Amino acid sequence: MEQTARKLNKRERHKMALSPFEYYPQIETLDFNAISEGDEFYLQDFGIFTASIQEDYTLRLRITAGRITTAQLREISKIADEYSLKIILTARAGIQLHEVKSEDVLHLHKMINALGISTWQTFGDNVRNIVTDVYDGIGETSVIETYPIILQMQEYFLKNRDLVGMLPRRISTGISGNRTNVTSFFANDIYFALAIREGRYGFNVYMGGKNTEIAQNADIFLHSEEVVEFFIAFIETFNTYGLRFTRTRTRLFHLLEEIGMEQFLGYVKEKYQKQWEKAGELIVEKRDFGEYESLKADKFAFCYETDFGRVTPDELIEIASFAEATESEVRLCTDHNLYLVGLSTPDVPFTNRTYSKTVVACAGSEYCPYSFWNIKDDASYLLPLEKIRDRRIQIGISGCAKGCGRHQHCDIGLIGLRTAQFGATEKGARIYIGAEHTQGLSVGRELFEMAPLDHIKSIIELLIIEFDQSGCESFESFASSVLNIYTTEFLSLWILGSLEHSSVQSLYALQKNSLETEVFEHEKELLLQCFPTSSFIALIDDQFDDAKRYLIKGLWSKGQSDPQIAPSIQKLLVSKKYWEL
Ligand code: SF4
Repeated sequence: MEQTARKLNKRERHKMALSPFEYYPQIETLDFNAISEGDEFYLQDFGIFTASIQEDYTLRLRITAGRITTAQLREISKIADEYSLKIILTARAGIQLHEVKSEDVLHLHKMINALGISTWQTFGDNVRNIVTDVYDGIGETSVIETYPIILQMQEYFLKNRDLVGMLPRRISTGISGNRTNVTSFFANDIYFALAIREGRYGFNVYMGGKNTEIAQNADIFLHSEEVVEFFIAFIETFNTYGLRFTRTRTRLFHLLEEIGMEQFLGYVKEKYQKQWEKAGELIVEKRDFGEYESLKADKFAFCYETDFGRVTPDELIEIASFAEATESEVRLCTDHNLYLVGLSTPDVPFTNRTYSKTVVACAGSEYCPYSFWNIKDDASYLLPLEKIRDRRIQIGISGCAKGCGRHQHCDIGLIGLRTAQFGATEKGARIYIGAEHTQGLSVGRELFEMAPLDHIKSIIELLIIEFDQSGCESFESFASSVLNIYTTEFLSLWILGSLEHSSVQSLYALQKNSLETEVFEHEKELLLQCFPTSSFIALIDDQFDDAKRYLIKGLWSKGQSDPQIAPSIQKLLVSKKYWEL
């Protein structure tokens, strides 16, 4: 590839001038009150970044495979308490310590790394924390324990001077040897998913996922003992051939888009120097996880629901004490919750305070400058949480299009935005539905480009009623058998029509399309049948847009601006530092 014909992006020019590994000793002499843009780039490679408008720092901690000792929990709690830090759990089963004062950064960075918890490569262009299922090795559906594999992978890259901060872009990795997983891993750049071939268990390989895309089947099957070598060849291939020009096109996804999976795998093969087998049968099953789970060897697990990923030092101490007293183990999960695993009885003294188990809410404006909302606080009143939890509906909320809340890899997803579309500028959300996420079949589709904050709950409640009426076992099966047979234009109009009528007719009960009828004509006919007297019906000609605009104006507009002349939402999506992440 002609890497020199195009201009390297700014970050690459920094790397060429000085590698992060060479830079590292300089942090000892850095004035954290006055760091340069270059310093900012390099510090991210070691888990140090500024993430709030107050210019405080954040430290990101790599919790390998989400496994943490009670001694480490106690130390983190002590540090957070002493330095008045906020603790949040991340979607890569890690921990972030927020509100670190500039004068404490270096000292705390050293203290954390001395605990046996690395902060290296947790941000920037690095191999991020490798994620696996929280019940890895111990769940009733666990077939292959991946922890030993993850340790070997990490050993290869963590302090590798050719890799630290040197990749074209971050690589997120998922691996699971469990038949069922608490969250999907198809949003990762590379995912090793449990599979079977010729009677032997191993892993199928998927590549090119990101928060808005599903990783694609690379048609490769690996035995457990082959995974590490393949992973090394994969990382070295990406490091050699990855795109380093326009920053927004540097993920593996874009490289695969540019050169194709076949050519990329050809490069991997040159480094791997072995043959691989064709993909086996994927084994990823849908399962709803409860508060308590039965594990192998007559043990149990308990999910401690955090406050949308926020935990206090006192909570960590309580959990650590209980784990020590019961000889159980604490694990962090990609769902932002803490798990106590290896309990002898399904009995814990904690009462769950929130209904956040199936909701992944990104850091939000409290902790991330890119967010338009205070996502974690807003999630607590914005959603019908009890109904969501009872039905195990997976919700993802992101504060910007970057998508850390994995809003397109869950049942219902939201991106928090601001808009003047309905009147004075206020909070609104883009809404996605219908992802078939368990087996990586599809990402969620955009239902509404924008809905005002105070109407989001009613939209979600309506979707829940439709789900209940369908009798489907899960929201995901409702998506595949009902929602996804319709266009999103039809679905959004259907919902608006139902909101206007204050009644819900069952989507599930609608007459299915015959093969001869054109999709639009069929959907139009359904609307005519179900809303025969509604005034919006007259606005449907050869598309649904006018009828939709009419209903949105009537239902959501506060009368101060016309939706047709409101500013483009797209403009609001682009943060000026967006490319840096
Ligand atoms: S989704 Fe956007 S706002 Fe939320 S944590 Fe990621 S970058 Fe920040």
